[in-house]
This record gives sequence, structure tokens and C-alpha cells, in this order.
Amino acid sequence: LKPVPSDIEISRSCVPKPMDRLAREVGLMLDELELYGKTKAKVQLSVINRLQAQPDGKYVVVTGITPTPLGEGKSTTTIGLVQALGAHMKLNVFACVRQPSQGPTFGIKGGAAGGGYSQVIPMEEFNLHLTGDIHAITAANNLVAAAIDARMFHEATQTDKALYNRLVPVSGGQRTFAPIQINRLKRLGIEKTDPITLTEEEITRFARLDMDPDSVTWNRVLDTNDRFLRKITIGQSPTEKGHSREAQFSITVASEIMAVLALTSSLEDMRQRLAKMVVATSRSGQPITTEDLGVSGALTVLMRDAIKPNLMQTLEGTPVFVHAGPFANIAHGNSSILADKIALKLVGPEGFVVTEAGFGADIGMEKFFNIKCRYSGLRPHVVVLVATVRALKMHGGGPTAYRLRVNMDNLELLEKGCSNMRKQVENARHFGVPVVVAVNAFKTDTESELDLICSLAKAAGAFDAVRCSHWAEGGAGAVALGRAVQRASEAPSNFKFLYDVELPIADKIRIIAQKIYGADDIELLPDAKHKVELYTKQGFGNLPICMAKTHLSLSHEADKKGVPTGFVLPIRDIRASVGAGFLYPLVGTMPTIPGLPTRPCFHDIDLDPETEQVNGLF
Ligand code: ADP
Repeated sequence: LKPVPSDIEISRSCVPKPMDRLAREVGLMLDELELYGKTKAKVQLSVINRLQAQPDGKYVVVTGITPTPLGEGKSTTTIGLVQALGAHMKLNVFACVRQPSQGPTFGIKGGAAGGGYSQVIPMEEFNLHLTGDIHAITAANNLVAAAIDARMFHEATQTDKALYNRLVPVSGGQRTFAPIQINRLKRLGIEKTDPITLTEEEITRFARLDMDPDSVTWNRVLDTNDRFLRKITIGQSPTEKGHSREAQFSITVASEIMAVLALTSSLEDMRQRLAKMVVATSRSGQPITTEDLGVSGALTVLMRDAIKPNLMQTLEGTPVFVHAGPFANIAHGNSSILADKIALKLVGPEGFVVTEAGFGADIGMEKFFNIKCRYSGLRPHVVVLVATVRALKMHGGGPTAYRLRVNMDNLELLEKGCSNMRKQVENARHFGVPVVVAVNAFKTDTESELDLICSLAKAAGAFDAVRCSHWAEGGAGAVALGRAVQRASEAPSNFKFLYDVELPIADKIRIIAQKIYGADDIELLPDAKHKVELYTKQGFGNLPICMAKTHLSLSHEADKKGVPTGFVLPIRDIRASVGAGFLYPLVGTMPTIPGLPTRPCFHDIDLDPETEQVNGLF
């Protein structure tokens, strides 16, 4: 096998086609495109209306076995598969992928553009700022955080009357209510005609949100693996007059606003979701929303460009939408519904849209079906489950990462580890959709190893199992996978959700824990028990569930490989993402912002000032 150059070298060696040509090829009008430089463009949502009558294409979701920390090639396979379907099988295709987070890019895993000869290009644009969507989310999220603490401070230091006078100043002899304040009056049942004059009781109800500082669930966010922000104390300057409290940071891509972006169906829907986000509870037990804080309109303004999917291309010139974020362990980890919907219209009934659900099938895919498909109404035709020899050997008892493994043909270890693949195939089959296992071949894998995985995958109930070499060969190496996916897309499917959202919160969590993770039961720890009661009382009990669990094991303990049994899943706490539309149980000690390793990826990254080329990204 010839050596494959580094990802950045391959990416750089290929000149992307001009965006106007790409747009024309995929059926977009030039005025539906908003260019960001020469290789990226945002696409206006009006395309959906223009193509309303067009039937949708086939919908494929790529998932995987439980991975090693290095990743098993889901993104690479997503891109390899669309290159095969599009550039080699001459079908209309779109890949819909997530925008990488700077956490992994500079941390341990590197970028997420795919790899080898199956990549989104230019990979440095893709992996770094793209068109600024994640920055917009960070800005919007932290505006809410600032609004919460400033409001609690003002309420704690002012009388009702003084608060009211500042919230609604008098100008020209009249109170100047902002439209969002009029909405709040309506929600409080205070109906007034012009000029609005409130009684003292109404002034108190209107001006005082009375948030309980201990009930604030809204975290500040940053798109950096900064572990020292996991727990902080804010408000320590004397100017805050002792109003300090313990607070937390999460990584931006795990924020509720990122989930809103992924799950929204229109600008109007996004405005409503951004208004419904619950940030705290009042001392009398009422949920306090971003609309109550008066910030939801401003959030929509900050997010108005982010809602438009980003158009890029693969190494073989097929189109890609990049939209919303990763982290299926602590977020739902799926790309946006809007990108999928636009792509399904653009490819037409014979075409294919391939999207990726983060990490293993137990988390990304479970959330893809139970959350994303529930909100989008879309039903996938095929699940592609990516498996590798290295990860399956790890599940069989081998070391946790084989980066440079030579001639370690060990079929016994591999066969044992295939239990994890069997379980993940079973997990996919719970949803009634045909499963194709894609064995992502590494140059050190042997024929007998690859054959063994394929035959065990079929025995586990996969519709088909094929080996692929798209990392080394591009789309040509995934044509067999493309054909298998095409055949599977014509097979009967009988889609069903795993649980009914109307079930009690604990029952829904238990169903996921038992059916998908293989747990004996769940244990609700005190904070989680309190939240189950609170959210049920507040009327949020019927939301779907977005588990925050390690991606490195089917269980909650990262070092338990294969198919762990005999465990009880501890639910430490639950948060409510009411605007995004799910409840968010925290399993065990799962942190919501990762840390940096001793030798982070950024040690290798630099800019050549002569050529302005980025080096060291992978
Ligand atoms: P995932 O999406 O599952 O996390 P990626 O597609 O990002 O995984 O791949 C993880 C890393 O492994 C990337 O650096 C990619 O280039 C590399 N990789 C993927 N497939 C192969 C392969 N067949 N041979 C060598 N390296 C690969």
C-alpha cells in the first residue's frame, strides 16, 4: 500500500470548485447563496419553500460501535460514502455533518473533516471558525448568563418601585414598555390598555423575577477544553457587593442554544424556542425563561445567520452541509434538521442524504431517532454502523488504542470484542431500520480479521456488512458500501421510537438504560429525584430524554469495554432544555466541559507566515 499523506496535505492538494459552480450543480439559485470567502457559503432557508413540491431523497444515518478515544471513522465513512454514491455511482448526494468544536481540534482527537482521501475541504476552514456559528452561540449563551446574574443583582439591591422605574423608564410623560415587556404583562395576566398603569401588586409581579440563585441551571460556555472552568465562583469583585455564587462552564457545543439550532424548523420556530429556555426557578417554584429575562429577541438577532446551513464540498466535489455541533455524549450530537430537510429536497427522490450521529449507536444514534427524528418527522431508510478491527480488539480485552499496530492478527480477541458490534446492531434494530455494517479497513488489518467482522455482523442481524477502504482510496473504496446502502434503502423498514414521550421521566430513562445500555436498572440520586418532581410539576415531564453519558463504554464507566452487564446506571442530576425540547440526565460524574491532555493537538499546529498555510492539523 502506498503511504497516504497527512490529512492537511491531501486537503491542500485539492483545489475546491468555485461555489457558484457547486451551487448550480446541486440545484441552488445563486441568490440563495451567501458567500463566506471562496470555499464556504450559507444557504438561505427560502430554498425549502421553493422546493416544497419536490419529493425527498433517501435518508441515511451513519453511526458506530463503541469507539476508542481516537474515533473509528464515522466522519471519514460519511464522506467516503457520499463520494462513492455521488462521484462514482453518479447519484445525487449530500452529506450533512456537524461543525467541529475547537475542544477536540486542539485537544486530543483532532479535527472532524473525515480523513485520508475522504474529507470535507478545505479542512482548516472546516475545522476552525467556519462561518462563526459556534461563536454566535457562545455570544448568545453568555448574554443569557450575564442577564441572569445582573438581574438577580439588581433585584437584590433595589426596591420594587426603583426596579420598575428602571425597567420601564418614563419618556414624554409615558412609560416606555418594550414589546417583550408587554408580552410579559400578558403572560402574567395583566391586561391593560394605553397608557399602561400598574397597581403596586402588579409592579412587584412584573418587576421581580425572584430567581432562586441556587436554582440557576444556565451555565456559561466556551468552545475550549478548559477544565478549570468546571466549577468557578463568580461575582467576587467588590462592585458586586458580595453577590457571589458558584457557577459552571460547559463547552459551547453542549449548550442548549446549539441544540435549538440543530432541532429548529424555521426562524419563527427558533424565536419561540429561544424564548422558552428555562434558566432558573423562582422562589415560588415558577420556571423562569429567557423571555422573562427579556433577552430572547436579542438572542434571535445573534443567531439569525447561524440558522442558515453552511455549504462546502468533499475532496471529490460532492456537496456537504455543515451545521450544528458534535458531542453526542454531553449533547445530542446531531447535525441540523434544517440542513437535512434542504438536502433531502435538493437530491430528489432517487438521491441520498447521508448524515452522521455522534459516537456509538448507544448515544448519538439513540438521540438521532428519539429526539431529532421525533422533531423533524423524517424517517431514515438505512443505518450505517461503522466498525474497526482496532476498536473491536479493544472490546475483546486488547489495549485501548492501536494507532500503529503491526501484524497482531488475533482472531480470538477480535471475535470476543465483536460482542460490542452485535449489541450496537441490536440497538439500531430496535428502531426498525435496516443496518449495514461498514468495516473501516486500516492498513494493518488482515483479510481474516475483516472477513470475520463481516460474517459476525450478518449473523447479528445486519442487512449487509462490507469492508471499505475510502480512507486510503477515496470514494472508489466505498462503492461496495454505496451499493449495499442502495439495496438496503429499498428493503422494508418499520420505524418505531424506543419510548413514548408521555411516559413518566424515570420510566423513559430506564427504558434507554435497559434496552440500549444493557443496565439492570437506574438509580436516581437525590438531585435527580428532586428534578424529576420539579419538572413533572412544572409541566416538562413529557419531553424526550438526552442522556449525558460517556461514549467510551455502553455503561457509565469508560473503562468497561465490550458489553458490560450487571450494572445500575446512576443518574446524578437532570437539567431541562425546554427550548431545545429535551430533559438532560447527567449519568455518573460526566463533566460538561472536557479537559486538555498533557500533549494536546495544538502542540503540532502552526502557521507558515510565508505561505499563510496552516500546518499540523489532522
Ligand atoms: P469518528 O467520526 O468516528 O470520530 P473520524 O472519521 O474523525 O472518526 O476518524 C478518526 C481519525 O481516524 C481521523 O484522524 C481519521 O483520519 C483516522 N482514520 C479514519 N479511518 C482511517 C483508516 N481507515 N485508516 C487510517 N486512519 C483512519
